[in-house]
Amino acid sequence: MSDVRTGGCLCGAVRYEIGGPDPAIDICHCSMCRRQGVHVQAALEVARADFRWTRDEGLAWYRSSERGRRPFCRLCGSALGYEEEGDDCVYPNAGSLDDGGAGLSVRCHIHVASKGAYYEIDDGHPRFAAGRDEG
Ligand SMILES: [Zn+2]
Ligand SMILES: [Zn+2]
Repeated sequence: MSDVRTGGCLCGAVRYEIGGPDPAIDICHCSMCRRQGVHVQAALEVARADFRWTRDEGLAWYRSSERGRRPFCRLCGSALGYEEEGDDCVYPNAGSLDDGGAGLSVRCHIHVASKGAYYEIDDGHPRFAAGRDEG
């Protein structure tokens, strides 16, 4: 277990906190993450019950698929993660943590089959063509 971690958008109009155990980080290479997040997005896996918004003045949502939606700040444009209906977890972006993700580490790369063509993945972490459960 760790202390509560905090994070938020670039301008501060959206803030959140995470309790519970240290979250794993999956680097997502899908085309939606790349477009919304400029490059890959580092997704923290956090139990929904351990996550809460503490400031939502700028909070807006983009529905990116039938069940998926992506929080962002309507004032500064920061992409803040991903969540899906019926999922017990939410996936805030590790890049938005105040502490820079101290003590956390990358678990794997996901959606590698749709990664950008302009870079290679050679850091030795496991790679999955699609989601972590889908192989
Ligand atoms: Zn903002
Ligand atoms: Zn993605």
